[in-house]
Amino acid sequence: MHALPDRRMAPGPKARGVNFLAKLLLRRTRPLLIFIPVIILVTIFWQARTLRSDNFIFYLPNASHLVPVQAIGHANYVPLLQVLNIVGKVQGLTAARDSLKVYVDDVEIEVRQDDKKVRIVKKNIKLSDPVLMDNGQWMVPLNFIEVALPQIIREPVAYRLGSRRAYIGDVRPESFSFRLDPIPNGSRLTLQFSGKVNIRTASRNGKWVVYLGEKPVQPLEQKFNFQDPYLTNIQFDDQDGVPKLILTPSSDGLNFYSKLDESGKAFMADLVKPGAAVAQQPPATQTPTNPGAVVPPPVAPGAALPAVPSGPALPAVVLDAGHGAEDTGARGGSGVLEKDLVAQLVAHVRTNLLATRKYRIVLTRVGDVNPSLDQRAATANAARAQVFITFHAGNLGVRTPRIVVYTYQPSSKQLPSAEDRPPGLFIPWETAQLSQLAASQQFAQALQQKFAAISGVTVSPPAVAPMRVLRSVNAPAVAVELGSLTTDVDSSALTDPNLQEEISNAIVQALIEFKGRQT
Ligand SMILES: [Zn+2]
Repeated sequence: MHALPDRRMAPGPKARGVNFLAKLLLRRTRPLLIFIPVIILVTIFWQARTLRSDNFIFYLPNASHLVPVQAIGHANYVPLLQVLNIVGKVQGLTAARDSLKVYVDDVEIEVRQDDKKVRIVKKNIKLSDPVLMDNGQWMVPLNFIEVALPQIIREPVAYRLGSRRAYIGDVRPESFSFRLDPIPNGSRLTLQFSGKVNIRTASRNGKWVVYLGEKPVQPLEQKFNFQDPYLTNIQFDDQDGVPKLILTPSSDGLNFYSKLDESGKAFMADLVKPGAAVAQQPPATQTPTNPGAVVPPPVAPGAALPAVPSGPALPAVVLDAGHGAEDTGARGGSGVLEKDLVAQLVAHVRTNLLATRKYRIVLTRVGDVNPSLDQRAATANAARAQVFITFHAGNLGVRTPRIVVYTYQPSSKQLPSAEDRPPGLFIPWETAQLSQLAASQQFAQALQQKFAAISGVTVSPPAVAPMRVLRSVNAPAVAVELGSLTTDVDSSALTDPNLQEEISNAIVQALIEFKGRQT
């Protein structure tokens, strides 16, 4: 063990601050009047900066451990010694006023206050934010887990930036995908897991909780929003170390029936209006769970789902509003943001497509969120999209309004030789769009013709672009770009509801024509 030096002798910066205030109080009364509000403001802000706190979860092969996450300034911090104690054995430490040496399983780690550099076995590693002392605890930014931890322990560390969990050692978290389908008087949520799960359901405060068992689960996103009359959102939560999904129903009094299929990997939950037609009534073995019930009946795996007669599913059209959240996309002169403009347009197109009663509409994002490009493509593939349309707006020159339809442009080394690919083989994720290019171009052509019929709009011939979001979509896929949305051109025409209505109608017509030609 290394000795801790005595720190009580030297006056800290806090003590000096108090002396300064005391001098002010004694000598200068008038400036103090100005100082008081300033001091109060600073105190309030300073507290707000460090108050927010949630947990970071370390999943180890046989256990999970939580450490508190503290937002300090604009970075998130975790207590260094707690983290090191979870992932290894802290053998000893030497603390000075502004530096700390820790030994974890014979690995020497040295940090300094307000310094981004961490020394690990004499090698410098740079963190995203400086190491801090907070309430006597050494705090490191979350980025420490990504860049420094793998140098300290021999175990593999799996951590996705921005997430609140890391997997240490031989821990393989289950992943899952989901889909939401309409059923008579309700919606059916299907969760498909990568491996067997042990599921238990309960109700809590008007929400349904689906416990996913003891094994770690890695969600694609923390929260999924739906535009659905029965289900508002699903939220992943493992803040107490127990992975679970929280389902928020869109209205009160819905019944909830769920079951895990024989494989143990697919979970289905029906959210239905109570008192629906006999055909939707669950078998007697099934107990409906009503949110708000005091004692939630757990649903046994294998319990039967209500038999729901459903006709052939409608073909899915997947609409992708580009960007979202901090990624605002382009900006117009009047302050209009691309992410908002395309979301508005997608809502329009959705309404018009639903009115035809020919399609099921799947949105890749609802609200101001920014799923990754891969997740957008995954949503399309999970829904077995018949077509995929991504919407963007940007600088297309001075003539506005203007529309360009793009299809995916593969890089030259990616170009397939169709003969080389044996038929019926699994389509690799990175090249899913290649086999769809001809159909995508046909759809782009149909769109361009319908757009060209809108008066006052300049429509360019279909073009190609290496758009990453299209790359992995296993369906005819196009990008519709509106222009010009840029600060030096008047973009106000693009937000005109009449124009959006005409664009939406053109898309409906083009789609009907395109599908007609395909079958
Ligand atoms: Zn864009």
